[in-house]
Amino acid sequence: MESEVFKIIEKERKRQSENVELIASENFVSENVLKAMGSCFTNKYCEGYPAVRYDGLGRKGRYYGGCIYADEVEEYCRKKWKEVFKTDYHVNVQPHAGSQANFAAFMSVLSPGDTILAMDLNNGGHLTHGSSVNFSGKLYKTVFYDVDDKGFIDYDDIDGKIKKHKPRLVLAGASAYSREIDFNRIGRIIKENSDETYRPYFMVDMAHIAGLVAAELHQSPFGIADIITTTTHKTLRGPRGGMIFCKPELAKQVDGAVFPGSQGGPLMHVIAAKAVAAEEACTPEYKEYIADVVRNCKAMADEFTARGYEIVTGGTDNHLFLVDFSNTHPKLSGKAVQDMLDEHAITLNKNCVPNEKRSPTQTSGVRIGTAAETTKGKTAEDFVKLADRIDELITEYYKTLD
Ligand SMILES: *Cc1c(COP(=O)(O)O)cnc(C)c1O
Repeated sequence: MESEVFKIIEKERKRQSENVELIASENFVSENVLKAMGSCFTNKYCEGYPAVRYDGLGRKGRYYGGCIYADEVEEYCRKKWKEVFKTDYHVNVQPHAGSQANFAAFMSVLSPGDTILAMDLNNGGHLTHGSSVNFSGKLYKTVFYDVDDKGFIDYDDIDGKIKKHKPRLVLAGASAYSREIDFNRIGRIIKENSDETYRPYFMVDMAHIAGLVAAELHQSPFGIADIITTTTHKTLRGPRGGMIFCKPELAKQVDGAVFPGSQGGPLMHVIAAKAVAAEEACTPEYKEYIADVVRNCKAMADEFTARGYEIVTGGTDNHLFLVDFSNTHPKLSGKAVQDMLDEHAITLNKNCVPNEKRSPTQTSGVRIGTAAETTKGKTAEDFVKLADRIDELITEYYKTLD
């Protein structure tokens, strides 16, 4: 029987290939990743973990029979991701998404009511970093560190707030921050504030920048952070999903927090696809791809600056940047730009800017990322032209607002 659904999928395929995709959290996976995700592993129940890896940890393996190949693919997946990040940290590849990875990571070391120090959603943080509408803000007390007037992380504020609030966990990582995050510096700050009676956990959520870390184009949190979470579908260019890395001494707690703590059966087809993405991330081509993403991002941000736009922090070190319209186009909201560009088949998202005056549903800025279109083969020159085109569209549109 022909399913109606494939007609819709075909429309979406066409939209993805024809639209210009500038949403910083999106990417286009390879045929092999798609194939693994669409494979028969979706049929298999595998609650638990491959038995082999728990030598000494007292685990009993899976709860179901028939997991021989599921074990093989999960172990292979874990091995390959450790290779990607050149790490001996423990890795759990079962989290269904980045949010689930963060949920389990918190669960592994925190009790409800504990205090987390993190970056505010409005300054570039993520919902799961303590937002009041999210489990993280409901289960834990959250204190936020600030960014300075230009939008850079205020490291002295991290230091001050650790001293003042004694958080149980310090969280670094962001969804809309265009500058390198100084993990080493935060690690030092934590150390300086620690003694025999107090030492907060250091957690890094590298969901956006994991691809840059893999390609060694961003400071690595490995060796510094206790727990590292990530998504697999952003710059890592894998299937939708999450992962948790941790120091070996936290392995048991982290695994227990994922299953049975917060999830049931793992998505084995997605784990198979995560393994394919890891193979791809080990290649020299992937490193070149990430270098291109960063180069293209700088070229595009520079072009916007040359055309009189304000970029938050004045530029970018990674795969994304934020355009702030508050001074240059005071009548323009991020929402209006998002909707207007949508009509011209250019997809991006509205975003809060430092000292935001508008509501989060309107905002005064947009976020632009180059990971997806670089996968499609766009060059720095193409991105410059794209910036010019967006400027022309905004300029035209702005005239109609008078
Ligand atoms: C995208 C993102 C997440 C959540 O990922 P989902 O897969 O959408 O749940 C978590 N943290 C950060 C920093 C992110 O950017």
